[in-house]
Amino acid sequence: MNLIFLGPPGAGKGTQARLLQARRGIPQISTGDILREAIARGSELGRKAKEYVERGNLVPDEVMVEIIAERLAQPDAQEGFVLDGFPRTVAQARSLEELLARQGRRITAVIYFHLPEEKIVQRLSGRLICTRCGAIYHVDHHPPRQLGRCDICGGPLYQRDDDRPEVVRRRLQVYRQETEPLVEFYKERGLLFLVDASQGVEALHQTILRIAGASPEGQEGQAETREARADR
Ligand code: AMP
Repeated sequence: MNLIFLGPPGAGKGTQARLLQARRGIPQISTGDILREAIARGSELGRKAKEYVERGNLVPDEVMVEIIAERLAQPDAQEGFVLDGFPRTVAQARSLEELLARQGRRITAVIYFHLPEEKIVQRLSGRLICTRCGAIYHVDHHPPRQLGRCDICGGPLYQRDDDRPEVVRRRLQVYRQETEPLVEFYKERGLLFLVDASQGVEALHQTILRIAGASPEGQEGQAETREARADR
């Protein structure tokens, strides 16, 4: 199962990708996480990416394609993966298609997380991340049991620098300009499935499993979701 999670920042892609990894063992490949780790380590990639990430701009395509090629070559990504935050431009999507084709692989489904704009801003402004394990919380909708501490590993929680309102505005603008055209790109290829990202975490997880054909009702789920997509 080779999946892409597409949608605006704050739509829940990371939460759902982490859940798929935890429950089904499908590796989550988050380019945002890879970049944040590189920045924290101060590696060459981190130094290259820092300014773009801080300002809410996209890191150049050639850098991103190299990262993803390397990551997809690793042993754990051979049996399936979930791409979370990649591709973000049509050029990245084309490079990915070529890269996978050379290896005799292809994308199975692209899941588009649909969320109204006011909800996006609300979610991002209250989002908290665990410094240690990367778990995602929200001050109102998914608060940790203990203030400022991760439920899973006990690590301290922090707010991402780029979740500040002025950077969020830029990220949304970039999303609309650069990433939204991918909806058409994947629709043309018959790969796009729309999901309502405002539903609860568990309900959305079940929907995603149906689309991915990872549950017994897989085929039925696919038909339903394709119709939902076509009606939009
Ligand atoms: P994310 O965690 O997916 O919201 O990504 C955080 C930031 O990392 C983005 O705002 C970009 O600056 C950068 N980034 C992540 N993935 C990509 C990508 N595929 N292409 C370009 N920049 C990216």
